[in-house]
Amino acid sequence: MGDLDNLRLQCLSCRKCEPGTTRTNLVFGVGNPNARVMFIGEAPGEQEDLRGEPFVGRSGKLMDSMIAEVGLYRDKNIYIANMIKCRPPNNRDPLPSEQEACINWLRAQFKIIKPKIIVCVGRIAAARIMKPDIKITKEHGVFMEKKGVLMMATLHPAALLRNINQKPLAEEDFRILKQKIMEVCPETYNI
Ligand code: SF4
Repeated sequence: MGDLDNLRLQCLSCRKCEPGTTRTNLVFGVGNPNARVMFIGEAPGEQEDLRGEPFVGRSGKLMDSMIAEVGLYRDKNIYIANMIKCRPPNNRDPLPSEQEACINWLRAQFKIIKPKIIVCVGRIAAARIMKPDIKITKEHGVFMEKKGVLMMATLHPAALLRNINQKPLAEEDFRILKQKIMEVCPETYNI
């Protein structure tokens, strides 16, 4: 059993905050443990909770189709996780205390996977992982470096579904992402 599988088992028994007692399934993460590129979202929604997988349902399908255009696939060469591993009751926003309680699971995932590039999906993840005052409408698609890891924010697919006119902006983010992958971890395309 790999380190990530071990971590998942530990996470399965976590009940540090309320969502851990109300969730249907843990949404630990999915993808290639050897991926160089990680996508990080905020917290599971209803579909994710039911399936135990991040970014499923309509918005997940939209994201999958956009990243497939740049050769990225969750079952092949990337890893996808959320900051919060259990769905907050009634889809409410995760409390700051819950974010604080759960972030160490994500940190542990980072330590095992050691991504070279992190893509923060949506403002909440970008604010927590990249910088608190990020303006995602202006700063999506712009890379910054933090602790030796390159990070970029992109628009959340659920927001794109609400305003499909913004889809080309996210598509451009992923073209920029592909260029960066070719520079720093081209092996992503050989996994
Ligand atoms: S949300 Fe995170 S910290 Fe809270 S119970 Fe679930 S795994 Fe544990």
